[in-house]
Amino acid sequence: MISENLKTVQNNIEQACKRAGRNPDEVTLIAVSKTKPVEMIHEAMLCGSTDFGENKVQEMCNKIEVIPDKNIRWHLIGHLQTNKVKYIVDKAYLIHSVDSLKLAQMIDSCAKKKNVTCDILIEVNVAGEESKFGIKPSECEELVRQISTLENVRIKGLMTIAPFDENPENNRPYFKELKKLLVDIDNKNIDNVSMGILSMGMTNDYEIAVEEGATHVRVGTGIFGQRQYNI
Ligand SMILES: *Cc1c(COP(=O)(O)O)cnc(C)c1O
Repeated sequence: MISENLKTVQNNIEQACKRAGRNPDEVTLIAVSKTKPVEMIHEAMLCGSTDFGENKVQEMCNKIEVIPDKNIRWHLIGHLQTNKVKYIVDKAYLIHSVDSLKLAQMIDSCAKKKNVTCDILIEVNVAGEESKFGIKPSECEELVRQISTLENVRIKGLMTIAPFDENPENNRPYFKELKKLLVDIDNKNIDNVSMGILSMGMTNDYEIAVEEGATHVRVGTGIFGQRQYNI
């Protein structure tokens, strides 16, 4: 099942790239494995997946421990609490969910202690949903400037979680807005900041996100099937 799903998603990404005149090599598929067992990650690895997304620090650390494969890139995509930073700062390939100076400062200080630099994205709540984390688009440049002064943190781009919508076409304006914000900030040439990564699009809307310039899509259900949460 996973193998078939991966082929379908990859094919859809290629088609979306074609429609947008983009090179599919520009798009990284992050297989979101949260709540899913290690066996399923292994199965995806056998099909060539190298990028995995987790939203909980503890779960990610547990999985890294049983899958100590150096070729795997672990993306932390969920909300990060400052007191958990120390556990992942040298393990996450990219932290997608930085939305405050305080959190970035904690990442910086933990990274210093471990003698690493940590790559991060700024999470932007483009749709302005109250239930979601992320900063307002209007606050983005200021936060980027503040974080850019931290020595052991590198801003690599922006991330957003669009609303769930039966019709993914409705999310296109949000993706367009995040891309525009990325280009605008990139044009300011802020030291220590690169705006190469645009992390947007999930199972429901990744094709639209790719058409609008996503460099990283985060697909869980479309690869591993529905998640079951123990309530
Ligand atoms: C769970 C999650 C995803 C994947 O969602 P699907 O709809 O299952 O593809 C992507 N991004 C974030 C931040 C998530 O928490």
